[in-house]
Amino acid sequence: MSDKLDKAWARLQGEKDLNADNVKAPLKDVRRALLEADVSLPVVRRFIARCEEKAVGMKVTKGVEPGQMLVKCVADELCELMGGVGAEGIKFRDDGEPTVVLMAGLQGVGKTTACGKLSLALRKQGKSVLLVATDVYRPAAIDQLKTLGKQIGVPVFDMGVDGNPPEIAARGVRKAKDEDIDVVIVDTAGRLNIDEKLMGELKATKEATSADETLLVVDAMTGQEAATLTASFNEAVEITGAILTKMDGDTRGGAALSVREVSGKPIKFTGVGEKMDALEPFYPERMTSRILGMGDIVSLVEKVQAGVKEEEAEKIKQKIMSATFDFNDFVGQLEMMNNMGGMKQIMQMMPGTAKLSEADMEAAGKSMTIAKSLINSMTKEERQYPDMLVASTTADSRRQRIVKGSGRTEADLAQLIMMFGGMRTQMQKMSGQLGGQAGDVGLQ
Ligand code: GDP
Ligand code: MG
Repeated sequence: MSDKLDKAWARLQGEKDLNADNVKAPLKDVRRALLEADVSLPVVRRFIARCEEKAVGMKVTKGVEPGQMLVKCVADELCELMGGVGAEGIKFRDDGEPTVVLMAGLQGVGKTTACGKLSLALRKQGKSVLLVATDVYRPAAIDQLKTLGKQIGVPVFDMGVDGNPPEIAARGVRKAKDEDIDVVIVDTAGRLNIDEKLMGELKATKEATSADETLLVVDAMTGQEAATLTASFNEAVEITGAILTKMDGDTRGGAALSVREVSGKPIKFTGVGEKMDALEPFYPERMTSRILGMGDIVSLVEKVQAGVKEEEAEKIKQKIMSATFDFNDFVGQLEMMNNMGGMKQIMQMMPGTAKLSEADMEAAGKSMTIAKSLINSMTKEERQYPDMLVASTTADSRRQRIVKGSGRTEADLAQLIMMFGGMRTQMQKMSGQLGGQAGDVGLQ
């Protein structure tokens, strides 16, 4: 899928803007990518329509290609749809009463496991928790919760297989009130398919406990079914959020998009393993990258936009293109990359770029001060015409003067010159990606 999006991106090469004609084909690629990530078709349709509307007429930032802008537009839209930036956890009551969390979902999706994981996470936040077992249909399910509770040191309330779920849950809540417990997590029974009995029981349990949170637990492998599933549960019990489990599998996680789009409710956590600590807050940005299957492209575009002012980018591009990238630019470049979160990171995020070796990048980061002091000891001429040094040998008197003046070693200087050479080559490659081919209008 990553390949497909690369293609989507490439389709816009050479274009100067985003318009109704040129966004169609790449958006078709995005559409295919989303379907492959198991987002349900109606959700994909609505999503693509919105992206198209947004992208057309978007102002294209100088130094950023329309293809990159489109990808960013799609990614932003996806990210926003899934809840914007930052993770949303449990909303606690602030009236001294226990917060009640109801765990809903089909059988085998990971409800009981999620109950345990969430308890542990809340305990770590300093909350006291009571687990309540209401899966009266399978004695093994009650034992499972008890075992988990023991393992993480959280009490479990149950009435065996005798009571009915709403009653057991209500008693559990009462017990929590009596004992001044902060959070009650109610584990419920699931069924293989949605049926009226399951929904009726869930609704009754929700009412009996006045649940504050009703979390729909969804197996990330569910795929396209996630949309109808969410609709049914939301209609019957009005969920307040969801937990997406089994994200440690190789699913792209398109279910996240469906759940969110259909219910309008946030995905609050993701399950990333069978162990009790394998619960993470939901990060829309990470999920976006995963669904689109394109690594860190999006954050790269953002960094490019935030870190390089348009003119500055243009100036550097011109310099590179006219082969006047010198030591002064080199220092500026090092500083800029440092500001943007490290050259190493940037280099790693560039798709299809011949990468500097790990060691080179490490060295570049560490030796910034050394580089600066060496460059300060260069004459104006040497800084402007780096080849005076690049072409020389260590025995060269210029080199010796610089080493002496800066208090550094010959090896330091040799390394700087090597790094500069590598950077110059690298910059030339990057310029192609940041701003199109030489001869672009912007380069005159
Ligand atoms: P329930 O029927 O909804 O209560 O589901 P369970 O909590 O009993 O979980 C069903 C199975 O899925 C168990 O084998 C769990 O260990 C497993 N499971 C639950 N959550 C995750 C997860 O996030 N990742 C993985 N790999 N397995 C999980
Ligand atoms: Mg269970």
